[in-house]
Amino acid sequence: MENNHVHPTIQKIINLTNQDPANCYQCGKCSAGCPVRDYFDDAPNRVIRFVQLGLYDRALKSKAIWLCAGCQTCSSRCPQNFEPAKFMDALREIAAEEGIAPSDKNVQKFHKAFLNQIKNNGRSFELGLIRDYKLATGKLFQDIDAAPTAILKGKIGFTPHKIKDTKKIKSIIDKAVKGNTK
Ligand code: SF4
Ligand code: SF4
Repeated sequence: MENNHVHPTIQKIINLTNQDPANCYQCGKCSAGCPVRDYFDDAPNRVIRFVQLGLYDRALKSKAIWLCAGCQTCSSRCPQNFEPAKFMDALREIAAEEGIAPSDKNVQKFHKAFLNQIKNNGRSFELGLIRDYKLATGKLFQDIDAAPTAILKGKIGFTPHKIKDTKKIKSIIDKAVKGNTK
């Protein structure tokens, strides 16, 4: 239900996630269990705190909302039954809809490169991801020393393992992207 006294960004979060960020009491259990925390600029509970304090722009520009892997660890640990994973998803959606880029532009380029692999192959294709990311950022030699080990250990394949019906996946992603740009 819409409430005229609620800020539009909060209302969007509530509509997208069916939960109110005010319910988070900042215990930090979500952030303590997040496997990607070391790569985030802001811990998940800190992003929630920005929203609680009305610092919407700060939350929407956070690198964390783009790096979140959606693993749900945070959601399963929350004593308030708040789901930070859903919350991060919603912020990413709002940021895309409002054309707000993360402070680190390369994060969004990584996100797009990853989505391209899913769109074209139906699943992740690491070599394609590396190629698209490097071409988009110009960081052609970044982490190049890790390549031989990754290839020898079979972590990077040379051809994608496509799913049968990639057209369906492509159409789902196209519809979602179109919805965000309306
Ligand atoms: S675990 Fe739940 S209550 Fe605690 S900081 Fe995270 S979201 Fe908030
Ligand atoms: S869903 Fe995102 S924020 Fe939550 S634990 Fe996983 S990576 Fe961290």
